[in-house]
Amino acid sequence: MTSYKHLLCEENLIGGGWVGADNGSKITVTDPATGKTIGHVPNCGRAETNRAIAAAASAFDSFGRSDLSQRVKLLQALHDALMDNQEALAQLLTAEQGKPLFEARGEIAIGAAYIRWFAEEIRRAKGEIVPAPTGDRRLFVTRHPVGVVAAITPWNFPSSMLARKLGPALAAGCTVVAKPATNTPYSGLAWGKLTEEVGYPAGVINILTGSARDIGGALMDSPHVRKVTFTGSTEVGKTLIRQSADTVKKVSMELGGNAPFIVFDDADLDAAIEGAMIAKYRNMGQTCVCTNRFYVQAGIHDAFVEKLRAATTDLQVGAGTEPGTMQGPLINEAAVAKVEELISDALSKGGNVVEGGQRHALGGTYFQPTVVTGATADMSFATEEIFGPLSAVFRFETEEEAISAANATEFGLAAYAYTRDLARIFRLNEGLQYGLIGINAGLITTVEAPFGGLKQSGMGKEGGSQGLDDYLESKYMCVAGL
Ligand code: NAP
Repeated sequence: MTSYKHLLCEENLIGGGWVGADNGSKITVTDPATGKTIGHVPNCGRAETNRAIAAAASAFDSFGRSDLSQRVKLLQALHDALMDNQEALAQLLTAEQGKPLFEARGEIAIGAAYIRWFAEEIRRAKGEIVPAPTGDRRLFVTRHPVGVVAAITPWNFPSSMLARKLGPALAAGCTVVAKPATNTPYSGLAWGKLTEEVGYPAGVINILTGSARDIGGALMDSPHVRKVTFTGSTEVGKTLIRQSADTVKKVSMELGGNAPFIVFDDADLDAAIEGAMIAKYRNMGQTCVCTNRFYVQAGIHDAFVEKLRAATTDLQVGAGTEPGTMQGPLINEAAVAKVEELISDALSKGGNVVEGGQRHALGGTYFQPTVVTGATADMSFATEEIFGPLSAVFRFETEEEAISAANATEFGLAAYAYTRDLARIFRLNEGLQYGLIGINAGLITTVEAPFGGLKQSGMGKEGGSQGLDDYLESKYMCVAGL
């Protein structure tokens, strides 16, 4: 096993220095696979955050005007540093988050790929020369970094969610104050170490752990923070949108999901099962784009359920570090209790557990990968995010019925459908109220495409050429009297 000790940072990065909380208080971080302590990180609050904001504001004076070639070079070096440390970073990620190692390696690789993508994309962040209405004027639109960015990230992808924010921010010339999730702070702190090693100037990247309310509050109150980028629950996202109003910050929000996965009678069944397994059980069902609701057409329903059940039985449950593990522990006891609650709610309303349904014999926060059939719209998982290894299967008859049921949620992040009917694919594109649509694919995230939700799943895009837009302001300049 590769050691991650050199990347295990137990202090916060503020203004180029590694420091503890002012009052010395710390938070214990545990490994969900064993319940054992990994280490301790600072429990910072408002005062430390205000110093980090001041450092970022001061660093922005020069970094915001730095040469494009220099910013590109730093991003390329950061990409290389991430990949050189891929195995250690993956081990650290699995230790604090629980996902199987093969998934953790993939997360580090896609995080690095986002950094490289934005190093390439910033070279094409062009302005415009606009035709003027009179001959004595010239009109220019130029693009500029927004300034200090607050980045708040969740525990389920503690590395790649930061990559999607740091990549465009650093490419544009913004400086950053980041707050990783308390359950999984080490992956974020390791980014701090690597950015320092590749030569980012002091204050450009600041990383704080501690009280979400205090750190978040100081970030949102500060007039120096010009943008907030958040990935996490819709509930916290709404709070941040409200808090951002007083200082009129730019806001991007990647929030919760409730993905439908629709399987039509004409689908390639084996391909649908392969897609279903990855869209449902990746990260133990703890992703914002995980399938929440399977809608399966009547003609293929029983065959689909039987194959899904069989594939679910085969999932090997264990510590993420063990060879062959496909399902690690859930993040904490509350996550397990939530899955249990959803199953008992479904059973009380006529659902059937055809696979799993219980805590796993391994104990702790391990849970059996589960399939529930006979799902109906009055069951809690029809409207609530499951965030666990539970497949809920609904039966439907017509395409109209499936699209209408799929859209019957406040969320609009990811949707999937399996069909071989080309005309239907375009009807789905127009009918599904989702920001990401996978047709005959259960995993569609890629750096080249914009990732982001509709409705209460958020605003703004990460990745793609659009991913830079939220980190750049445009200015219009009119030169008259020529
Ligand atoms: P969360 O509870 O909303 O927490 C996310 C982050 O916000 C954490 O760093 C958390 O800090 C912080 N936070 C909590 N309360 C805050 C406050 N009042 N002010 C400022 N920051 C605050 O979400 P989570 O449980 O970590 O993540 C799961 C959720 O994220 C799910 O809903 C999932 O769908 C969503 N998600 C969305 C995407 C996407 O791209 N759309 C991607 C991944 C996850 P603490 O950890 O210290 O509480």
